[in-house]
Amino acid sequence: MITFHVLTLFPEMIARGLDASILGRAVDQKIIAVNPVDIREYTDDKHGRVDDTPYGGGAGMLMQAQPVYDAHRAVSGGKQIRTLYVTPQGKRFCQKMAQELAKEEELILLCGHYEGIDERALEEVVTDYVSIGDYVLTGGELAAMVMIDAVARLVPGVLGNGASAQEESFFNDLLEYPQYTRPEIWRGKRVPEVLLSGNHEKIRNWRLEQSRERTKSRRPDLYGRYQERQRLMERLSGDKRNQIPLMECLARGQGSIVSVSGEDAAVYHRESGVCMVKASSPESGRFLLSACPGETKRYLVGRDFMAQMLKELGCVELCRCRQFLYTRKVPLSVPHKEIRKLEPEDLPHLLAVCGGQNRSYLEERLCSGAVYGAFRQGKLTGCAGIHAWGGLGMLYVAEDARGNGIGSSLEAYVINRLLERGYTPYGHVPADREAALGLQEKLGLYQAGDTFYWLERPAPAKQGQSRGFWPQNPA
Ligand code: SAM
Repeated sequence: MITFHVLTLFPEMIARGLDASILGRAVDQKIIAVNPVDIREYTDDKHGRVDDTPYGGGAGMLMQAQPVYDAHRAVSGGKQIRTLYVTPQGKRFCQKMAQELAKEEELILLCGHYEGIDERALEEVVTDYVSIGDYVLTGGELAAMVMIDAVARLVPGVLGNGASAQEESFFNDLLEYPQYTRPEIWRGKRVPEVLLSGNHEKIRNWRLEQSRERTKSRRPDLYGRYQERQRLMERLSGDKRNQIPLMECLARGQGSIVSVSGEDAAVYHRESGVCMVKASSPESGRFLLSACPGETKRYLVGRDFMAQMLKELGCVELCRCRQFLYTRKVPLSVPHKEIRKLEPEDLPHLLAVCGGQNRSYLEERLCSGAVYGAFRQGKLTGCAGIHAWGGLGMLYVAEDARGNGIGSSLEAYVINRLLERGYTPYGHVPADREAALGLQEKLGLYQAGDTFYWLERPAPAKQGQSRGFWPQNPA
């Protein structure tokens, strides 16, 4: 659930503009909430005035600081809530920003009107200045609505079909391919033959080619970024077994290239906050770490010296593990038949199977539709899923159900789900877990040569405190 508080002089514009169609339904279903707040109600002026002429002269009126500040105080109640002032002077709003904002539980959007807002109020309340484009609107309401729409549709559950927010324009720096619907022939124009072929591989390739062509001609700037990504992918593919996490993160459109240094690179997985670093020397590793986003929560590194370097910087080693990947395209056989995607109401049973470990993480994964369960006579006996950063995992089998191949069936089932999406399945297994390591080889997964380390980054330092070369730059 995400709540958008909108501070405005025209609350009815916001209320009316967002109550229809997909967003209206999401509000009814309480997946999102929109709270238009009338700034005028907070003015101290007995005539209800909220604006005045600018000091120093100049055209138009300016919104006064007091009502804006008090309206903000009333909404935030003194809590630190990210507050976006929509203004033509802000950072340009984009899909990546929408993805980042969709992770917040509450947002305050402040709409200016007339010539804008007294600077002193902005200094007190605003955390981000955001523009929807290089043109000037009469007020911030339309800009706020544009942003709410783009953010809300990325909140799980808002769009009926989870996949539809993924494979569209800006996914992987490409514009979407052309789409067609019935009738097959309209005004003598036929739907491209390949779309009627039923051959999913051919359709995927055709769409990718169309996306490339379209992006190249309509958005050369975006196409440049796409090419940079492809060049890195090509370099990484020479060492696929070791570099599969970075490759999949980019191929699935979930990551940003943080920095490239010769053959090395760092990629940031936006949703999970994991920074994946491939470094072939300590110098290159140090350089890449200094470019990692300030909000990085965990690191995945593939060399002992990188793990050592991160530990010296205060990171905590979570796991030393082996990495596996499944390179074939053919689905695996799943002998155990009672497996299905788990639903939020399965949570108590899931926690029982997992011994109550990692409750909040499992709950989040469950609500994202990323956990699958095996049943025997209607009772949950095991689970497996896809981690927030895209790897296979969360494999647990209840003690009394072990030794029946349920774990193997579960992992095969999840691998097949990833193959259906065109992904290369991969995962990590703690280096000392013999049985789990054996299972990977039995299923036909290849083991990478490097040892991998997961490390947790310590909580960020308070403002003003130095953190050595810990980076501050955003993703
Ligand atoms: N005098 C301001 C300036 O030159 O930067 C422009 C004020 S504009 C007429 C009134 C309000 O509309 C702004 O305070 C802002 O909230 C909103 N606005 C106008 N253009 C916008 C844009 N491109 N993106 C976001 N908000 C915009």
